[in-house]
Amino acid sequence: MKKKFKLALPWQILIGICLGILFGIFGSEYVKYTKWLGDLFLRGLQMIVIPLVFSALVMGVSSIGKSADLGRIAGKTFAYYVATTLIACVLGLLLVNLFQPGHGVDLRLQDTVTGLDPSKVSFIDQIVAIVPDNIVKAMATGNMLPVIFFAILFGFFINISSDKTRVLLTDVFNGLYEVMIKITFLVIRFAPVGLFGVVSGIVGAQAGDPKALGTMFGSLGIYAAIIAGGCIIQGLGILPALFLLLTHKNPFKLMKQLGTGLLTAFCTASSAASLPINLQDIQEKPGVSRKIAGFCLPLGNTVNMNGTALFECVTALFIAQAYGIDLTLGQQIVVILTSLLAAVGSAGIPLAGLVMLAVVLNAVGLPLEGIGLVLVVQQPLDMIRTTVNVWGDVTGAVIVAKSEGETINL
Ligand code: ASP
Repeated sequence: MKKKFKLALPWQILIGICLGILFGIFGSEYVKYTKWLGDLFLRGLQMIVIPLVFSALVMGVSSIGKSADLGRIAGKTFAYYVATTLIACVLGLLLVNLFQPGHGVDLRLQDTVTGLDPSKVSFIDQIVAIVPDNIVKAMATGNMLPVIFFAILFGFFINISSDKTRVLLTDVFNGLYEVMIKITFLVIRFAPVGLFGVVSGIVGAQAGDPKALGTMFGSLGIYAAIIAGGCIIQGLGILPALFLLLTHKNPFKLMKQLGTGLLTAFCTASSAASLPINLQDIQEKPGVSRKIAGFCLPLGNTVNMNGTALFECVTALFIAQAYGIDLTLGQQIVVILTSLLAAVGSAGIPLAGLVMLAVVLNAVGLPLEGIGLVLVVQQPLDMIRTTVNVWGDVTGAVIVAKSEGETINL
């Protein structure tokens, strides 16, 4: 009979966020003393991402059992991910063509494009880079696509190995996954304090730069509103409608159940940061099996990014409009396809999508300096698109689970 009253974690997190905003506004000169709380939390999450993704995927793929099952589940998962990402791209193109936010923009390009190395991200390179030349290096640098590729391969071959090997390795990876989830729990307990640190840092930085806030109201504001609006349509309209259609369950209940992970995605602008939380919650709350959660979520985390794809399309067109370049329908289709690829290739970390924008701009010959134009509004946009990215993953996992005959508690 110790404490009677204990606030649930999502509420603690919300309080942490609100306090972070207030502190960022009113105590901006002191955020340097609180930022470390956020850094510590993010490092904790980053620490677990690689071993968690690797063990979850190997476990997910190897526990799917017969390769016919794997093929079917993978097929459904990919179909859902690709279809929703394409819908997001088309939605973005429609909106940006409708509102034309880039026409008549004052091109005062910032010289902040440094740090992005567009030459490194060509279309073909991206595909080739999925196969790791060194898996340890890919893990050490947090390069997710090669890690995912190798984990799927590894899990698949566990399945068709001798009984002895299969039993042994399945046990080992189940165990590894279990331990990783326990460590995850430890890190998540610090989410309210950690997110306080993250949010106060972001708000504090903006408060010290009123010019950045001011630009929000210009044409960049309209551009940002289109991306935010598109993400909202995708996240609150299209994905829930698809979910309802395919599962006959209430999507907003699912949203509530997975609130902690979605809020984490929003606040950290990192899909990867929310993965550990969602992997846990999606099994505990709606009751998705370990094998499907372990397959769909880590895969979707890097591969399925609805919000990022929408962002890529809108931004490419916005830059074209700002430079007075008219893109033909054919070029717009190239924008859609490269945006899809850029979204697949983006890691689940803050601003990864912005770096990948170079792929899209390259493909249709738009000036890479255009990236500088949109930098100033990236933080809020990244937060919004990341939430939609993660929401796409979890709805996909539940839809696949339901289609495999699992009981979903919603
Ligand atoms: N921050 C996004 C994510 O983690 C990626 C992006 O920059 O679009 O999902």
